[in-house]
Amino acid sequence: MSRIAYVNGQYVPMARACVHVEDRGFQFADGVYEVWAVLDGRLVEWAGHARRLERSLGELSMPPAMSQRALQVVLRETIRRNRVRNGLVYIQVTRGTFPRDHAFPPADTPQTVVATAKRIDVAAIEARAAKGVGVVTTPENRWGRCDIKTVGLLANAMAKQKARGAGAFEAWFVDDLGLVTEGSSTNAWIVDADGRLRTRDTNCNILRGITRHSLIDVARGAGMDVAEQPFSVDDAKQAREAFVTSASAFVMPITSVDGARVGNGKPGPVAQRLRSLYLDHARATAV
Ligand code: PMP
Repeated sequence: MSRIAYVNGQYVPMARACVHVEDRGFQFADGVYEVWAVLDGRLVEWAGHARRLERSLGELSMPPAMSQRALQVVLRETIRRNRVRNGLVYIQVTRGTFPRDHAFPPADTPQTVVATAKRIDVAAIEARAAKGVGVVTTPENRWGRCDIKTVGLLANAMAKQKARGAGAFEAWFVDDLGLVTEGSSTNAWIVDADGRLRTRDTNCNILRGITRHSLIDVARGAGMDVAEQPFSVDDAKQAREAFVTSASAFVMPITSVDGARVGNGKPGPVAQRLRSLYLDHARATAV
């Protein structure tokens, strides 16, 4: 079955799904994106991701691409046409196509809006989570607005490639003070020696992960102690447990940091419990 993409109001086969060479997303990474998990055909964390998309656009002085109602229709139709039951649905919105010039084009330039969906292998992800994965660390080298979910992902892609080259799942960015900011496409967490959950605060330069945000509530609801407090690479190596969160990985246990074993080198009980609690929450609130 050929995959279908939504491109500026039309659903087209992937092979014919194109944007212009002078699209500002291509020329300047002048655009934003968002991604929702799809479980049992339903959108996970619909409202959180939709709100963040509007915020990202607003921070770049771009209007919403469409109403939230229309956005949901487009995402659902993209999911349906690609027959995705469990997967991910993406939207990219750029400042549109205009003869190349760094300064913004006229405000009435139509945005470019693209949506795609892909299946994920839930069994494979479960198997990975049951085994745990490794992370490597890499110096933080991104711009100062990582709270905006822009399509400018080169530093993230390079960090992920470094991880893949080392046989790891993820790369954690580490700032000048030796503190972990976040992963290349995930937020970073540990369970410290006191049993407290720790994840970097959002006043620093990280993406305000929707999964991270919900998991703080889920964990507190389960009586766990959560601190939005930075941790160092050494803290992570000495932690009881570590894990990452994202719309695509949910809660993924980390078993090594730069080759050093975390805890006993197996997924920890807290991470496993949180994964299960989070998936219950995700399914219960999906629309
Ligand atoms: N940080 C970065 C840099 C990301 O790309 C992502 C994935 N979107 C996350 C964190 C996790 O965010 P979310 O839980 O909203 O998927």
